[in-house]
Amino acid sequence: MRSCNRKKGKGVNCPYSMVVGWGEGWIMDKLCRLHRKMEAKAIDALIVTGSENRRYLSGFTGSAGTLVITETAASLLTDFRYVEQAALEAPDFEIKRYDEPVAAIREALLENKCRRVGFEGDLVTYEQYAKWQKAIEQVEWVAVSGLVEELRMIKEPEEIAEIEKAAAIADAAWSELLPKMVPGASERELALELEFLMRRKGATGLAFDIILAAGPNAALPHAKPGDRLLSRGDLVVMDFGARQGGYCSDMTRTVVIGKACQQTRNLYDIVLKAQLAALDAVAPGKTGQEVDAVARQIITEAGYGEQFGHGLGHGVGLAVHEEPRLSPKGDKVLQPGMVVTVEPGIYVPGFGGVRIEDLVLVTEDGHRVLTHSSKELLELGADQA
Ligand code: ZN
Ligand code: ZN
Repeated sequence: MRSCNRKKGKGVNCPYSMVVGWGEGWIMDKLCRLHRKMEAKAIDALIVTGSENRRYLSGFTGSAGTLVITETAASLLTDFRYVEQAALEAPDFEIKRYDEPVAAIREALLENKCRRVGFEGDLVTYEQYAKWQKAIEQVEWVAVSGLVEELRMIKEPEEIAEIEKAAAIADAAWSELLPKMVPGASERELALELEFLMRRKGATGLAFDIILAAGPNAALPHAKPGDRLLSRGDLVVMDFGARQGGYCSDMTRTVVIGKACQQTRNLYDIVLKAQLAALDAVAPGKTGQEVDAVARQIITEAGYGEQFGHGLGHGVGLAVHEEPRLSPKGDKVLQPGMVVTVEPGIYVPGFGGVRIEDLVLVTEDGHRVLTHSSKELLELGADQA
């Protein structure tokens, strides 16, 4: 039996001092911080099934498995396909193989004499909950949400390094895509090419489906790439990210095909001004709301407040959209180690849109931008016949 060494760490006391079989290091720190949150909710066990939460706490990357975290134990229940992988990836967890997950959860809970059991209320389906409740009626089931997500908001240096790699892949892929963005190229082909470039540069996948929208399509903030061929005067919004080491990146650039008209230039300048000002405002102690307001005010004063209908940004990590939110409702206070996007946009129906998005890390004394692609308005293929 080992004691919880977190006590000697950064001055955070784990409420449960004796923990069986846990190693030291990052995973251990996370579990101790989770214990404090569990204590606050008066639960003596937490069932974790969300894939990002599961990976974050245990290191296990498989697609099936349940964590049972109690006061004194941390178990990873999984099936035959993943037992060996789980043992390698999650050495701090006790790995238990199951044939039937509910029975295994039941055993883990009763073995540890758990009474109030938390589950991820925002991720578990009603059907799943009903199954657990029926099979394990000895315990009280408590829907909790955000416990692990709150821990995930503050990134460790190892996580920041992975996000930076993912951001660098996206930056590099984008600059290679630019020469292919000429009149006549199709949205769909370009999106495919961008995916190919990111994968070739080491992405294990996309952080999310690529948005590549030209002309009037660019007025739809979440347009899907389609059959439209780029034509002169089109604004093209490209919003994309790589997934790498489990972590996501997220960036948006807007370019123009051929020469920019006055309206295009004007829209672009407003969005860029708002984006730079909001980036500048990112610092510990600010709320998401405050940073959002900086961009929103500039866009509103330029007369486009109604055309900026989404939040300014969001946290990025194992998931591409996570806490904290930078929006008029974003009440979370920015802290060092958070990675967020800053992505104001203006969308003019029938004409097009402009969005510019960077990833930014909140640091002790301000921020560091993780996206390095140029934000100058590029006029592409202007010299082509
Ligand atoms: Zn994006
Ligand atoms: Zn985003």
